[in-house]
Amino acid sequence: MLAIDGLRKVYDGHGRRVEAIADITLTVEDGEFVCIVGPSGCGKTTLLRCIAGLLRPTSGEVLLDGKRVTGPPPGLAVVFQEYGRSLFPWLRVADNVELPLRAAGVAREKRRRLVAAALEAVGLDDAHGAYPWQLSGGMQQRVAIARAIASDEQRVLLMDEPFAAVDAQTRADLEDLIRRVWALTGFTVLFVTHDIDESVYLGQRVVMLGSPPTQVVEELAVDLPLDRDQLTTRSDPRFAELRGRVYAQIQKAKLEKLEKT
Ligand code: ADP
Ligand code: MG
Repeated sequence: MLAIDGLRKVYDGHGRRVEAIADITLTVEDGEFVCIVGPSGCGKTTLLRCIAGLLRPTSGEVLLDGKRVTGPPPGLAVVFQEYGRSLFPWLRVADNVELPLRAAGVAREKRRRLVAAALEAVGLDDAHGAYPWQLSGGMQQRVAIARAIASDEQRVLLMDEPFAAVDAQTRADLEDLIRRVWALTGFTVLFVTHDIDESVYLGQRVVMLGSPPTQVVEELAVDLPLDRDQLTTRSDPRFAELRGRVYAQIQKAKLEKLEKT
């Protein structure tokens, strides 16, 4: 469904040249939950922006359903880390969620139905009339998720460290929430994080990135049961084994790069 082929991105300007991504090739199947994990500054946001059509790759290409991405494609939404900046404070929760549907010209009745379903999916059916600033950080991020899934042609969800700015307890709740939303909607989810534990807990597959100039270090299938919860899954010996493997690979990639420079 999603194919990233030989993607390379060099930022060039203001006398500073950064080769953020050297070469990334990756495919994601329809309905898959894939986590991309890598150290801070390794180009994760750059990669997501290229996939979302917000940034043009220096070379290589991104294909969605076989079509080359050249601008924001329909059916694909992004949830960013800064929930505070992604919602409009002067719009009520339901209106925030409805906004992209209005922009897409969806009829009123249908908009109402989709907004209600999305808010229900994230457990916010009682918050339609609230303003974002009346909600906690975790709830605001749930509104952002609702807005991203409120569509009937929507199929791909890109998430850029969406839970990095909330406290640990809220983060655990949001992790479980996104697994539920994924199971419910059948979306294809590409979830970017710097947190190794989070990548193993959430993903069916973990794609590890090294330090810049960035390449894929390894891909790992997460063979943990489909039903996951914070207690059982995280104390599963297999979970520890997988996180150890991811950790070791990323460390190794970092060291190899240091030795080269
Ligand atoms: P990550 O999300 O993994 O932390 P980023 O994709 O944000 O990494 O950044 C990767 C590298 O590219 C960093 O070295 C960063 O400084 C650089 N970079 C990101 N955005 C820009 C930009 N607009 N102009 C120049 N350099 C950038
Ligand atoms: Mg980033």
